[in-house]
Parts: sequence; structure tokens; C-alpha cells
Amino acid sequence: MSKGIQAVRGMKDMLPEETMCWQHVETVMRDLMASYGYQEIRMPLLEKTELFKRSIGEVTDIVEKEMYTFEDRNGESLTLRPEGTASTVRAAIEHGLMQGQSLRFWYMGPMFRHERPQKGRYRQFHQLGVETFGVATPDMDAELIAMTARLWQRLGLRDLELQINSLGTPACRRDYRELLVAYLQQHRARLDEDSLRRLETNPLRILDSKNPEMQDLIEGAPRLMEYLDEESVEHFDRLRTYLDAMDIGYTINTRLVRGLDYYTRTVFEWVTTQLGAQGTVCAGGRFDGLVDQLGGKSMPAAGYALGMERLLALLEEQALLPPAAAADAFLIASGDQAQAQSLRLAEQLRQRLPALRLTVNCGGGSFKTQFKRADKSGARVALLLGDEEVAAGTIGVKYLRADKPQETVSLERVIELLTNPAG
Ligand code: ATP
Ligand code: MG
Repeated sequence: MSKGIQAVRGMKDMLPEETMCWQHVETVMRDLMASYGYQEIRMPLLEKTELFKRSIGEVTDIVEKEMYTFEDRNGESLTLRPEGTASTVRAAIEHGLMQGQSLRFWYMGPMFRHERPQKGRYRQFHQLGVETFGVATPDMDAELIAMTARLWQRLGLRDLELQINSLGTPACRRDYRELLVAYLQQHRARLDEDSLRRLETNPLRILDSKNPEMQDLIEGAPRLMEYLDEESVEHFDRLRTYLDAMDIGYTINTRLVRGLDYYTRTVFEWVTTQLGAQGTVCAGGRFDGLVDQLGGKSMPAAGYALGMERLLALLEEQALLPPAAAADAFLIASGDQAQAQSLRLAEQLRQRLPALRLTVNCGGGSFKTQFKRADKSGARVALLLGDEEVAAGTIGVKYLRADKPQETVSLERVIELLTNPAG
């Protein structure tokens, strides 16, 4: 026998038990977004490759080596989206949404990056993304951070650390880049292979290196924070004032640079030590140059993206995922008349009790077999329909989890019992 076909490496199925946990988190997120006045936007999973090259930057890890890019049947180069910001900006420009007033969007869905799969790192993963446009002041940055802090609070999460930094303007980053390259050139012999490559293309990313042997060198490097322009310093100070006012604790990490090219001024990450090497759960910042770069009229912007798999892993680690929800009732029927009536009864119940979780036994079987199924389903009660009940217009109720005698009751009484389990 040939081996069955398996899923693509780094791409996971989500089985029902896991899906249920995700739905719980997604519901909390949807409510949170609404409570801050953010609206959902949904974009295609495929975009023109050019979009990501122009936004994320040609010399970033994502564009250099992580994108799923292919030619379609017309020979056009397309890419499975590796992140959502570029698409959001594209969509907002394309539909003329960038009209001056501030915009607040969120999205949720799969992203694709050809990375080495490991815990917390997949080739298809999911992000919750939040993007705002039109506000340059740091109150917006502070609101974005407050939302994430609120999300942790609503989910019950602990032990996430907020790290913030400022990358200044592109101009001061250019000046700083020269200083940094000069410093790194002096210590060229101590650079690893990745860093030597980045020295030419994207030297700031060297600061982000996880290689332990590079840490001393990075520690000694000049700090961008000390070369910021006056306005960026003021922007950063105000952000800190706002965070303080909301009692949101943070640490300043001057080496926080982020992997994408488009960031300006504020960058932030929420990190945890509870997930091993993949400890960044959420990352974001300001990207005032991106809209212009993608052909819109210049418009300040800020946002963040949260890795759903890492968030779910952390919730599991902290035992914060909801228990599996069992059915309320399981309907079993035996006898010709009863079989015919059971689907009808189920529909009556669903009509009257829209929130009821009712499983109907399908595929027949003896009462004994059906009871076993009812028990296995985890349902609180089994509803029984035999030909006798059908003739009498009654329904049997057997309590599967409580020590209560079986009863035979009317439809109205069943509805009462299901509505108010204690009654
Ligand atoms: P990392 O440094 O871990 O590669 P990144 O800087 O590439 O992260 P972003 O592009 O900022 O990540 O994406 C935001 C968040 O999405 C990350 O903080 C992480 O939680 C999640 N994420 C990114 N890549 C993956 C992946 N391959 N698998 C699972 N989650 C991911
Ligand atoms: Mg990455």
C-alpha cells in the first residue's frame, strides 16, 4: 500500500479541538477590535510580487529568501502574502480610503514564509494585524500598545514584556547607518557569515542577530537612540508619557530594529521567555513612509501584527485555554415511527432554542449502542424517542451526568429543562 499524501512541510492542519481554542481567542479579539473602533478588512492571499518587494524591502529576510513566489498561467509573478501590512495599504489606496480622516483596520488570517519549521515557526502561520493611517502623533502608537495590553488582560495572559525603541526618521537612520558600518568594519573579523552579508545590504539588522558570539560586539555598537533627531526624541518621550499614564510597563531595547524596512520612529515587541527561541508574540511600530512608497499620497501610519500560533502556545503554557465544549443534548430514537419523528423533533428544538447544542443520532443502532454514543458525546442529557413516546406525544429524558431518575415529559417541559438545567 502506498503511503498517504501528507500536508506540506511547515503547514499544519488544525483539528477540531484546537480550532475551538482558536475560536475562543478570535472572539475575544473581534470584541476587542470593536471596542477600540477598528474595522475588519479582508484581502486576497495572493498579491503581485512587486507589492512586497516595494514595501518590505529587497534586502530583507522575507523578500530575499522566505517568499512563496511563482508565475501564474499568464506568466505574472505572484506571491502568497508573507504579511498583511502591504496588502492593507494597497487596498486602502486602491479603493480611495486614504482621505485624510484617520483609519483603523484589522485583519486576521494565514501568512506564508518559507522558513525552517520549528516550534513557533511555520511556513503557513496566522496573524492578527492592526493598521492605522492618518495620525502621526504618538497617541496613536500608545493606543495600539494599549490594545495589545488589553488583549493580554482579557485573555488572562501574564509574563509578557513590552520592549520599545525608536528608529527615528529615514534621514537620521542613514547617518547612523554610516556610523554603524564604520564600527562594524573595524571589527569585521568578528562578524559571522550572515552579518557579513548584511553589512553590505542591511547593517541595522545585524543588531538583531541572535548569534551568542556576536552579542559583545553588538553591545559595544553605537546606539541609534543617541543619534535621533529632535522631533523623534520628542515623539518617543511623549509615547513614554502616555504609556506611563496608562500604567503600561515597558523596557527600552535600543537594539530592537524589526526585520522589515518600512518602520520609522516607534517600534515595539511583546516578548516572553516561556516559548523558547520564538519568544516574540507581537511586533509593530510606525511606518510613515510606506503609503507614499506604495504610490499613495504621503500618509502617516502605524500598526502591529501578532503571531496567533505563538499566542495560542503561550495560552496553553499558562493553562488559559477553554475546556472542550460538549453538546447539551443527544437525541436517540428507536422504532420506525420514532426514527421519522426524531429529525422533526430536533428541528423543533433548534427553532425554539437557537443556542442549544444538540446532536442527533444518525445511522440507527440499538438503544444500547445509541446510549453509548450519547455518553461519549459528553452531552448532559439524552433525549429518547421510542414508538411509545411518539404515540403518547412525550419525550424521555435521561440525565447522563447527574444522579437523577429518568423522566418522560412533554415537549414544553423538555424545552424548560434544556433552558434551565437546574429547574
Ligand atoms: P521573527 O524574528 O520571529 O522571525 P519577524 O520579525 O519575522 O519575527 P514579523 O514579520 O514582525 O515577524 O511578524 C509578526 C509576528 O508574527 C511575529 O512576532 C511572530 O509572532 C509571528 N510570526 C512571524 N513569522 C512567523 C512564522 N514563520 N511562524 C509563526 N509565527 C510567525
Ligand atoms: Mg522572520
